[in-house]
Amino acid sequence: MPELPEVETIKLGLSPVIIGKSFTQIWQRRKNIRIDFPPNFSSILENTTIIDVTRRAKYLLIHLDNNKILVMHFGMSGKIFMGKQDSFLHVHASFLLNDNTEIHYYDPRRFGLITIINMDEIDSHKLFINLGIEPLTDYFNANYLLKKFKNKNTNIKQALMDNNIAVGVGNIYAAESLFKANISPLRPASSITLLELEKLCEAIKIILQNAINAGGSSIRDYQNIDGDLGYFQNMHQVYNRYGQRCNICDTIIDKVTQGGRTTFYCKTCQV
Ligand SMILES: [Zn+2]
Repeated sequence: MPELPEVETIKLGLSPVIIGKSFTQIWQRRKNIRIDFPPNFSSILENTTIIDVTRRAKYLLIHLDNNKILVMHFGMSGKIFMGKQDSFLHVHASFLLNDNTEIHYYDPRRFGLITIINMDEIDSHKLFINLGIEPLTDYFNANYLLKKFKNKNTNIKQALMDNNIAVGVGNIYAAESLFKANISPLRPASSITLLELEKLCEAIKIILQNAINAGGSSIRDYQNIDGDLGYFQNMHQVYNRYGQRCNICDTIIDKVTQGGRTTFYCKTCQV
């Protein structure tokens, strides 16, 4: 599933290619993905110029010179391909730019979405209004989490993954960050001290940034901006390593189900 670093990687790969260019032709190949395409989708976009590309949570935001934003979410399996395609199977929309660059949105499982919002709806639109803060900003710090976790009796792993508090700390990154900060995923969120939260915030920022850097270095070699962070998977310390030995203390990595998701952790390193 594309997580925050994958979407950031797509943003970084796409920005230099599309900013300053115009959409000359749009192909919409379905009525809907997870939600309907907006009415007049193609005509709203055609002949507009792309002025910026940003990211909010796992949404890619393509800012246009007509005060609209083209919003893309990649769901479980969404990707962006560039260049000529041999097949349009699962390609739900394609975009031609004025320099003949082709951008294709591909999503076989169709949990993603493409829509258009007005620029001033970026905080108030229903897709964005309940989103918590971005973990790679200064707002995400130990004091903020202490306040948010004060009365939270849920475990720290699920609290970290709560999108109303902070966005983009998905299953992999929550597990890896808790390992790096030596915090057991089983502890109630309210029991984590300010000092531990400082360590945890630092761990989250480092791990997300490492994943972005890994993706960033891999996309330079390929024409497809598919957010593939295969390289980062080799850097996991606990995620998907059940039954293997901890790289720090040699204990066998354990797993537990929390909120329907599997958490991997080291019983010795994480207390
Ligand atoms: Zn260990």
